[in-house]
Amino acid sequence: MTAAGTPTLSPVASNSLILIAWLGGLALAGTLLVGVWWALFADRSRGVHRCPRCWHRMNPAVGLRCSECGHLVFHEQALLQTRRRWLLAILCLLLLVLGTFGLRTTIASRGWWTMLPHRAVLAVMPWLPPSGHLIAVRQHMLEELGQQHVSPDDTVRMLELVKGGDLLTTPGTDAWRSTHLRWLATLEDLYTQRLLPPDDPLRLAAIDLPPVIHVNVPERWHRGEPLVGMVEMEDWWPAGVEVTAWIDEIEGLPVDAAAQDRLHRTRWRRPDREPRDGSRQVFAIDLGPLPEGTYRGHVTLSWRTHDRLGSAGLTGQGVVRMPVRAVVRGDAPALDRIENPALDALIAQTFADGILRSTTLPTRHIFSYAPFFTSGEAHEAVAFGLIVEACEAGTPRRTLRVWWRGGINRAQMGWESPVEDVEALARLGSGEGWTLRIRGDQELARRAAGGGTGDEASRWWGGSVEGPLKVSDVAPDGFGASWRATVEPPGVSPAASR
Ligand SMILES: [Zn+2]
Repeated sequence: MTAAGTPTLSPVASNSLILIAWLGGLALAGTLLVGVWWALFADRSRGVHRCPRCWHRMNPAVGLRCSECGHLVFHEQALLQTRRRWLLAILCLLLLVLGTFGLRTTIASRGWWTMLPHRAVLAVMPWLPPSGHLIAVRQHMLEELGQQHVSPDDTVRMLELVKGGDLLTTPGTDAWRSTHLRWLATLEDLYTQRLLPPDDPLRLAAIDLPPVIHVNVPERWHRGEPLVGMVEMEDWWPAGVEVTAWIDEIEGLPVDAAAQDRLHRTRWRRPDREPRDGSRQVFAIDLGPLPEGTYRGHVTLSWRTHDRLGSAGLTGQGVVRMPVRAVVRGDAPALDRIENPALDALIAQTFADGILRSTTLPTRHIFSYAPFFTSGEAHEAVAFGLIVEACEAGTPRRTLRVWWRGGINRAQMGWESPVEDVEALARLGSGEGWTLRIRGDQELARRAAGGGTGDEASRWWGGSVEGPLKVSDVAPDGFGASWRATVEPPGVSPAASR
């Protein structure tokens, strides 16, 4: 594939120009065909005797020699020939052949898709088999979109095509994501960056775009300890869309009744995020402790979007069944507790920015932290599990539980929805009288320890640090909105609380 913007590959041609070119070409081809027919068959004798050389009228009763040019014929039949203009016929045919050849060459070099109106290309796309052709067609439409040549109606059609997936790519799957990501990203730019009005058809069409969801659980785990999976969701919903997710079904995993009940009553909600923060959004699901065994199961998650900005209040929804594999073996190996002033100082540094505050975003307060302070090789074997609290006169008002692995690879990072007292946080002011308290927690650290993968952490940080709480106000786009879990009271049917 050539680079975008190559002039010969992306002609600046609007749909109407393409249409005019086609109509003009057809008219010309028709004229040439008529020309050939006229030159060869139109001038029949119709019973009139003519000299076959100079086409002077002759009377065979008078004689068979032309009085004009002296040409002599031997049968009367020779005077009834059709007059054929060979030069004109050949010229017309030549032009037709040249035209056809030119069209063929253009199609071969530029592709038929560059020579059809967008609407026709989009209508044909679902019927194209997966091939280099299809890739080139997608690329072409992407370039047209990038150069703002695609009409609003066709832009919505492009989004609908993405939502429909194609032969090999079921919407919401990884294959679908990788096939359509570039269209998705470009279309998303259109309905986010350009600040379309809330009722713009493109924005509304994006409300039920399927997300791509995975659940990551440690493949190896220990009995007696809660197995926590991180649900990772990548989505392309427009700003102003709120999301709720819940677990419909857990298959093939012996999750105990208490955990089942708690999970079925849990709703994860994310307020709309504006602007997009680009990160993949995650939330934790706690499957509870599992007995020993090897499990291959599925977790089925439902999602529902609700448009807060558009006047129709549209909703979208879908269901994703995600595979989960876990091997649960004996007791967890012991982790050594470490605690030293140097590591305490690193943790203090990690949370030095304290709390970020926004007055406009749906999430008003977040902890700011920089886990890369613990990425040194020396901390490779250390699992960090931290309970972080913003305290007002010693009382926690916001609590975050977070875990990650020291060293370079922080793949096992995760966190749980923070618990906060919104009213108390409104009194935060400059942070005077407030403190930041961080404690190491072995059970949380276990979540980042490696779970029997052979590359396990052997130590956990068991220290605690406390100091003044720093508070900074951030720009309106300072941070995105994160997921919050709420557990509905027992007895509320899941359907009713959706
Ligand atoms: Zn003659």
